[in-house]
Amino acid sequence: MYTVTNPATGELVEEIPNATDAEVRAAVGRVHAGFADWRRRPATERAKIVLRAAELFAERADELAAIMTLEMGKRINEGRGEIGIVVDIFRYYGEHGPDLIADQPLAIRGGEAVIQKTPLGALLGVMPWNFPCYQVARFVAPNLVLGNTILLKHASICPRSALAIERLLHDAGVPEDVYVNTFASSRQVPAILADPRIQGVSLTGSEQAGIAVAADAGRNLKKAVLELGGSDPLIVLDTADMDETVSRTATARMRNCGQSCNAPKRMIVMADLYDEFVDKLTKRVGDYYQPGDPSDPATKLPPLASTAARDEVAGQVAKAIEQGATLRTGGHPIDRPGAYLEATVLTDVTPDMDAYHEEIFGPVVLVFRAETEEQAIAIANDSPFGLGASVWGTDPDRMRRVAERIESGMVYLNSAGGSQADLPFGGIKRSGMGRELGPAGIEEFMNQKSIRL
Ligand code: NAP
Repeated sequence: MYTVTNPATGELVEEIPNATDAEVRAAVGRVHAGFADWRRRPATERAKIVLRAAELFAERADELAAIMTLEMGKRINEGRGEIGIVVDIFRYYGEHGPDLIADQPLAIRGGEAVIQKTPLGALLGVMPWNFPCYQVARFVAPNLVLGNTILLKHASICPRSALAIERLLHDAGVPEDVYVNTFASSRQVPAILADPRIQGVSLTGSEQAGIAVAADAGRNLKKAVLELGGSDPLIVLDTADMDETVSRTATARMRNCGQSCNAPKRMIVMADLYDEFVDKLTKRVGDYYQPGDPSDPATKLPPLASTAARDEVAGQVAKAIEQGATLRTGGHPIDRPGAYLEATVLTDVTPDMDAYHEEIFGPVVLVFRAETEEQAIAIANDSPFGLGASVWGTDPDRMRRVAERIESGMVYLNSAGGSQADLPFGGIKRSGMGRELGPAGIEEFMNQKSIRL
């Protein structure tokens, strides 16, 4: 069942039954059939449609933001901000996509060759609820320009976002059989991947979903891109302005109510700054992040996406405390309707505790103390995840030196948790495989065909 429940109130808004197996097979048939014509169109024609989609996203920003607020509790202004990035992604691939997929001559020993960049065919996208529009955009915009077609299975708590995106793309001129939304359940995903008409899958979601989809893709010899969880380290080496560092790092962690894959979830602070950082962060988190209605632009702490998500995070926090972590502020569900959890700071989390190794997908900051730069790097890398990271300080050479030793797919200097259209995004270790965005993002489902002249 696809279900809209307002996480700010707990009110059940709408239920949509899952697609039947026959409907799912028909949807696969549509995107397979749609490929024949779409791939033959000039890249510039496809890019023009993608640019039109960018315009429509900009026009419909308020409507889409309101849907996200209703479905998963995103603060309304953050929803508008998310659509801003979506517009940028569609524009980037609309403007640069044709160049990125142009034939590439290659001088080889004894002659010449050309690399022809062609699409693979119909792809499946499996997407999460935390950025209902941005996650879809990252996968869809480059693949539409390349000439692939898309069957999209969105998270079961955001069917209205799923339908609004499908409508928008069709309104922009994407043919109806080139982008198809399906309300398939996750149990129907193996059958979709076993279907020979589907050529690959891109999943953004949890480690568990990644494991299941990667196994199905492997069994069927299909390419998979996996954008999974993270527990990004944020290292504070030094600072010229502690108040600003605290406020900016807290903002990065609390964005989207802490439900961002690449939020800085583990703050690692040099020993000489640690006490001041923890005191100021505790105050900032405890005072500033007060709960409110996510549709009110003044609200600082919205609900989590569902009570199940809230209970899971509250359970992780309770377990960390039981295992010996120190609770500095927050830590409890908030006594009001909806899926609210106090903004939380934990310290003294050690490797024998579950919280040290897990992703905590909510408004919870872990702070670690590092005696040396070496130890800071060791803590940062002591994680099963390897999505993003950030290094904060005043000495660019030192920050760069530390950044180069972090095991992750991305490192930011003096900023955290961001994403931009022209910068590749993705992780290593249990954070997944493959890249989205930038030039790399359009190559994942591309046949780079060598033609020996
Ligand atoms: P999720 O529960 O894994 O769901 C993601 C999508 O996968 C949903 O469409 C879900 O469908 C589907 N799914 C779940 N189990 C499946 C299975 N066994 N087979 C096939 N499909 C399955 O993740 P979420 O809770 O929505 O999202 C939060 C997670 O996503 C976090 O771990 C976060 O870090 C990660 N994430 C990563 C990135 C990145 O770029 N690396 C970005 C955003 C989020 P249903 O909704 O129907 O269950």
